[in-house]
Amino acid sequence: MPRVSSRTQSIPLSGIREMMDLAISIPDVLRLEIGDPNFQTPANISGASAAWVKQNRVSYPPNSGISELRKAIAKKVTERNAIPCSIDNVNVTIGATGALYLALLATLESGDEVLVPDPGWAGYPAMVGLAGGTMRPYGLKAQNGFKMTVEDIASAVTDKTRAIILNTPSNPTGAVFDKEELQKLLAFATERDLWIISDECYDEVLFGGTHYSIGSGEPIEQSRVISCFSFSKTYAMTGWRIGYVVAPSALSKQITRMQAAAVASASVVSQIAALEALNGPQDSVAEMVAAYTRRRDLAAGMLDAAGLRYTPSDGALYVFLDIRATGVTSKELALGLLRDRKVCTTPGSAFGEAGEGFIRLSLACSDADLEEGLRRTILYVQERSAL
Ligand code: PLP
Repeated sequence: MPRVSSRTQSIPLSGIREMMDLAISIPDVLRLEIGDPNFQTPANISGASAAWVKQNRVSYPPNSGISELRKAIAKKVTERNAIPCSIDNVNVTIGATGALYLALLATLESGDEVLVPDPGWAGYPAMVGLAGGTMRPYGLKAQNGFKMTVEDIASAVTDKTRAIILNTPSNPTGAVFDKEELQKLLAFATERDLWIISDECYDEVLFGGTHYSIGSGEPIEQSRVISCFSFSKTYAMTGWRIGYVVAPSALSKQITRMQAAAVASASVVSQIAALEALNGPQDSVAEMVAAYTRRRDLAAGMLDAAGLRYTPSDGALYVFLDIRATGVTSKELALGLLRDRKVCTTPGSAFGEAGEGFIRLSLACSDADLEEGLRRTILYVQERSAL
């Protein structure tokens, strides 16, 4: 075989995948490791897509996305995220993954540093590397509930820093960042002339509080914020692979050209579904968020009763459980829990060094699985802590 590129070697194996691969080989495992909603995509959404496929030729859409959807996205982002924008600021992408990758490709020169949250989504390091950048983690602190402070970020900035990745509501911690801190960060990024790549794929999965979009602080055409969103979590549409990126129009045009070169476009079938997701009734979103909130409360109640510590989750789909009292690493604990009690979770170390000492449990499973999974996890952690 001829030589393969060094790029192929630069992609770390995701710690979540590692646990999933192990879980598949063991029968009757409770799967609390992955953030894939246990709900069906709402029927009006899949129905609109199916009807469209029956009636229309499924042909190439525009590279930036179909204009009806871009218009509906611009309206949603203007009204719900308070970022006044137009169709010219929107590209429809293959999930938030596609949005984030294009944002990095559009902003990085080879060797530029990108600040990445630690703990943070396990997808960032590979993406930054593939886009030619160098990842530099900024530590989020357990004692601050893993909420970002400008000091956390400022201390990681060097003269090679080009961009900061932000994620609120956050995976894996469920933290929702404060408006005041986000406004301070925008001022800091402006002073240091840095891009902010804002991953807001859980913007509507909130347990009561509000989400503040950092991009709402600047007129879009002068903005240094590239905002990335997804239909995956809000509408239980992970497999449709559909999201969007919002940026100043000149940059948006370049992003369209990069998307054209890389993947041509997101699937038109999924775009029709996404259009219905935005324009159709929103009751199913409210019902799903109510279910996640109920599960978050169930988890908090059980953990409080057991006297275990965890990060209070204000959004996204996760509970981040403190296992430091066990004295073992998060990977050892997660592997033992899987092997001995048949509960699959994700070790905090899969999200970066600062995630060590925690395991992540997902709220995206049934109430019954969550309750039983928590019961077994609590017992296991208590037994290990007593050793
Ligand atoms: N960003 C974060 C923080 C995530 O948790 C995920 C998926 O779990 C993604 C991005 C990717 O989402 P999508 O399915 O829209 O590509």
